Amino acid sequence: MIPYGKHSIDQQDILAVVDVLENQFLTQGKQVPAFEEALCQYTGAQYALAVNSATSALHVACLALDVKAGDIVWTTPITFVATANCIRFCGADVDFVDINPRSRNFCPTALAQKLEIAQAEKRLPKAIIAVHFAGYSCEMQQIYTLCQQYGVKVIEDACHALGGDYQGEKIGNCRYSDFTVFSFHPVKSITTAEGGALLSNQQRLIERATLFAKHGVTREQAQMQDVVEGPWCYQQVELGFNYRMSDLQAALGITQLAKLDAFITRRRTLADNYFNHLENLPLQLPDKKQLAESAWHLYAVELKGQNRLQVYQLLQQAGVHANVHYSPVHLQPYYQKLGFNKGDFPAAEHYAAHTLTIPLFQSMTDEQQLHVVQALEQALEQALEQALEQALRDCTK
Ligand SMILES: *Cc1c(COP(=O)(O)O)cnc(C)c1O
Repeated sequence: MIPYGKHSIDQQDILAVVDVLENQFLTQGKQVPAFEEALCQYTGAQYALAVNSATSALHVACLALDVKAGDIVWTTPITFVATANCIRFCGADVDFVDINPRSRNFCPTALAQKLEIAQAEKRLPKAIIAVHFAGYSCEMQQIYTLCQQYGVKVIEDACHALGGDYQGEKIGNCRYSDFTVFSFHPVKSITTAEGGALLSNQQRLIERATLFAKHGVTREQAQMQDVVEGPWCYQQVELGFNYRMSDLQAALGITQLAKLDAFITRRRTLADNYFNHLENLPLQLPDKKQLAESAWHLYAVELKGQNRLQVYQLLQQAGVHANVHYSPVHLQPYYQKLGFNKGDFPAAEHYAAHTLTIPLFQSMTDEQQLHVVQALEQALEQALEQALEQALRDCTK
């Protein structure tokens, strides 16, 4: 079975982890700070905090921006649930901005309109979380300029986008945001098994986030109350969490990061092949202008009326595991209970109803990719035939 995504681990990765196991601290040693430094080097951001998941990174980013009960934070419906959940972790309300159907990202025009209305109603969001869907950056310059006008903070959920570019620079440099978040889950660009990171150019913000990721405990004299008796002293000054990354994970992150550019180059070649092989099929492909900039975490096609379950099952029978990214977050039962309904974000719902993610991962071979292309051609043809037969049966009934 060809999976939709897959990590790549080599001997160098294994040796790095074994070295930590045999010779070093398992946690809170040298590897985590070294990985954080490597992330800054790669992205160009000034500060990085490695944590145990992107979900944790999103949570402490919201806390550092003082998101709390009574606040609202906006995000996109086409994302993994964690992007919205982190807002709820802080007791704040979630609202969504519809997508641009072409880029499948947060739509700056919809954002501009919604901000204008929100200002009139005195319900401006405290922050927005922009998701770089499938690895292609949102129009961050435009989004950031808009948000600054209204005093709204900006978090980039770049879980799909490590290794991608925007305006000739690496995604993650935080030029147009307060924070950027990455995930190192095995399906993402690089992996630490579980893991995530938070980047920022603002020292005060990264210090706040670090505090919340480490129990709310500080050893900085400047942050403590009263006279400190000795070097063993620490103080808990906020209610924080244990979101630390271990040194085992960070060691893996360092060797993985060294291979990131090669991974992205391969992903871009595979995406280019898909564009060439699939352009004559009855499908809506991703926007080809994304080719050279996207990190190509996903290659998601939209069906044009074919029965998705049928196409999915035919692919499955041919040994190809497709997937759907994503069911719109606002239609998850939890969010429906909070008052969201079908029809609230039509572009997102239309996209979600027709999309199918086909396999793309850096270790995918040309032969595997040709197999996916052929299986998809056949599945689409068969689905069309079956739809015609069904229509014939219906009208002769
Ligand atoms: C994977 C992902 C997350 C969550 O990442 P974890 O590291 O698994 O917590 C959040 N947002 C998006 C867009 C993701 O793809």
